Formats: sequence, structure tokens, C-alpha cells
Amino acid sequence: MAKIRTRFAPSPTGYMHVGNLRTALYAYLIAKHENGDFILRIEDTDQERFVEGALDIIYNTLKVTGLKHDEGPDIGGPVGPYVQSERTNIYIEYAKQLIEKGEAYYCFCSKERMETLRAEAEANNTAAKYDKHCLSLSKEEIEEKLASGIPYVIRQNNPSTGTTSFEDDIYGTITVDNSELDDMILIKSDGFPTYNFANVVDDHLMGITHVVRGSEYLSSSPKYNRLYEAFGWDVPIYVHCPPIMKDTHHKLSKRNGDASFEDLMAKGYLKDAILNYIALLGWNPGGEKEIFTIDELVETFNYKNINKSPAIFDDVKLRWMNGEYIKKLPLEEFHKLALPYYKKVITKDLDFTKISPLLQTRVEVLNEIPDMVDFFEALPEHSAELYVHKKMKTNYKNSLDVLEKILPRFEALTPWTFENIEKICMDLVAELGVKNGIVLWPVRTAVSGKKSTPGGAYEIAEIIGKEETLRRIQVGIEKLKAAQ
Ligand code: GLU
Repeated sequence: MAKIRTRFAPSPTGYMHVGNLRTALYAYLIAKHENGDFILRIEDTDQERFVEGALDIIYNTLKVTGLKHDEGPDIGGPVGPYVQSERTNIYIEYAKQLIEKGEAYYCFCSKERMETLRAEAEANNTAAKYDKHCLSLSKEEIEEKLASGIPYVIRQNNPSTGTTSFEDDIYGTITVDNSELDDMILIKSDGFPTYNFANVVDDHLMGITHVVRGSEYLSSSPKYNRLYEAFGWDVPIYVHCPPIMKDTHHKLSKRNGDASFEDLMAKGYLKDAILNYIALLGWNPGGEKEIFTIDELVETFNYKNINKSPAIFDDVKLRWMNGEYIKKLPLEEFHKLALPYYKKVITKDLDFTKISPLLQTRVEVLNEIPDMVDFFEALPEHSAELYVHKKMKTNYKNSLDVLEKILPRFEALTPWTFENIEKICMDLVAELGVKNGIVLWPVRTAVSGKKSTPGGAYEIAEIIGKEETLRRIQVGIEKLKAAQ
């Protein structure tokens, strides 16, 4: 069997949509599963859509995610150039071959005429289709128009009777009536090819064996097949991936403010978790296992198990999966990732290495961290009601009693260590003959001002230090006195 070659062919739009990244991942996995080649091709023929910095985003995403390409604009390869805008001569040459064969033709119709056709179609409630007006131009007429510099496009010449079929490995055999096939534009008036033409020429010239892309291209694929046939080229294997939905009715789309890869990274998702999650968006590994490293994905991925039905992008599940990846990080690595988030809300010189072990098992997404640790910087606004806890059996009175008793003992405590703080609290528990919670709930509440915190009373008191602990306990005493 020939070596598998897949490609990722992004347009430089300025962001990496989750669906595009999934296409890249699937194309990578299909190739690597069989030791094949994964190629990067930049599809920049829509010059109006050019976005500054867009290429960096593409390169950077592939680098960060480890989806390493074997050929591409930055590293070269045997079938370059790998940027479509550098291949315009190639497309023109191939379009001319089609004209020779009668499979394509020049079209000189003006914008106004096209507009009229569109309006008529709309009035008749039919799909706008070019009426082959220019197909009947004689050779002389064409020469004359070309010579006088009238703008033109080159169109595919599709039959209007019969049917065209194509095979998709996911969606099966798809057959359309040729009457539905528009004579799509292959070369635009600016001399650039359309995606519709360039993808066929490039996939062929670059030896692509499996074309992996979103299902939005499914409806155009019969027209691509006709191009392959017109050239006499082998049709590649098509692997169209199901749409990714935000909910049952809406597609996930950057335009709707939905997350791109960069957004997810900025929120503090880990790239491995993102890759793992999106691998499952439309692909069923079979079995219970859901957490896959990239190597395991390469090993397990079988594109035949890609689903037809739309995949729902489930935030909750992604968060959960990210949390699982965070838990598995070595503590030092988690600490390194968490540190910038601490520094967003903590200016004090605290021992941050003591905070990380408290957080690592609780954080799902790194951007939750500031809200979880802000109380280390300053005691948040809170009401005395926070001291009242039914299960712990704490109320204003016994909380006040605990804080008043513990304050002088903390004042006298030295050195200020976790063990010593614990001892003071446990001694008081024993002395009062109460359950731990009667002492620990008010102390933790006083030092944190929060209902739930990473770490308990001892850890927090140790981290904020003696002076701040005493100050916060005094604040608690005042609050409880006022509430009695
Ligand atoms: N340039 C197209 C896009 O970004 C790629 C489609 C394809 O993979 O063929 O949507």
C-alpha cells in the first residue's frame, strides 16, 4: 500500500477554531497511525480575508500541540511550495488544461448580470446557478474579450443531466443530480483560484491519500470528483468529519464568540487535555477509556470509527478532563503553571509553594485560581453568618468563645509552624471536650472569610503568617460580638 499522506490545510483566519484543530489532529493521527506523512498547506487564496499574524497562530498551534508536520512552508518538502498564493501559475495551467478538454470555460459575465441571475433565482425560490451563458462564446469572441482586457473567471463545465456519485469513508456513497451542480468558479477574476479548485489540484500534486476535512465540504465534493475525473486523476479517500455543535441547534463558531484553541489556552486549559477532548468530538474509541495521551491516540485511532452525527462541545466534560490532567501533573509543574495566576491577585510575599499542593486536586481550569486564592491577599467581605454551620454545630456564641480563647494562645505561639498551630487547636478541642469542627470551623472562617477554601485552618494560618492570622481573628471577634 502506498504511504499514507494527509494534510492540514488551514486558511489564515487569525484564530484556530476548535473544529480546525480537530481536523488537524485527525489528519495527523490517520497519517501517524500508519507511519505516514502529515503535511501543512496554507490556503491563502482569499486575499480579502488576509489577517496579519495569522500564520504565526497556525505554526504556533502545531508547535504547542506537538502535531508536527513533515512538510510545510517553513520546513519545505518535495512537493512545494506549500502556500497556495505561491502556486497561482500552477492553478492557471491546470485550469487551461480543463478548458482544452471542454471541462471548463471562460466567463466574462459582469457583476450586474450575476446579480440579476441571483435576484431571479431568489424570486423563483430556486438556488442561484450560473446559466452557462458564456459557454456558447466562440473562440474568436473569447480571444477578443481576453485581448481587450475584460475581467473574467474560469468556470467548471458541469453536465446538467444525469447524476454524480462519490464515496466518503464516513458518510458512505453520496449521489446528487447533476442538475444541482453549479458551474463553480475555478479561477477568480483576480487570478487566484477558489478553494474548490485549488484543493483538488494541490491534493493531487501533493500526493494526498486521505482528505480529512469538515462536513461543510461534503456538498461540494461531487464537483471535486468531477474535476478529478476530468483530469483523469485518482480520487483520494474522503474523510469528512461531523460538525461540532454548541447545542443541538447551533454550530460552534468563533463568530458566535465560541472558544478557539487560543482562548482555551488563555483560560488555562492544558494542551494535552484539549487535544484529548477534541479527539473524542466525533470519534468513538470504543470501551470506557477516555483519557488518552497523544501516543495512545496515534496507536488507537481508527478513522473508520468517526461518527456521522454532530458532536456536542461539552464544556463541563472538557473542564472535568482538564482537571484530571491537572491532577496528574508533577507538583512542581503545576506550581509553575499556577504561579502567574497567584500573582494576579496576591502581591504579598507568601510562600506560594505551600499553596500549590492545596490547589492541585481542586482546580479544573487554571483561570479559576485567582478566585480561589484571593483571600490570601486580603480578607474578603463576609458576614458573621458564615460562622453558623449546622453540621459543624457552630453558632455565633461558641464561635466567639473559640476565637477569644485561641487568640492569646496564637499570640504566644512560636515558632509559627503548621504542627504548632495544629497542636494549639487540638489542645483547645480536648480542653473544651468538643468535636474538631467547633474549633476548626470558626478558625478557618476567621482566617479566610470564605465558605470553602483550598486547605484548612492550619494551612491557611501558616501561609498568611502569624501577624495576619492574629489580625483576622480579631476581625472575627469584632464581627461575632456585633452579631450576638
Ligand atoms: N482551507 C480550508 C479551511 O480552512 C480547508 C479545507 C480542507 O481541509 O480541505 O476550511
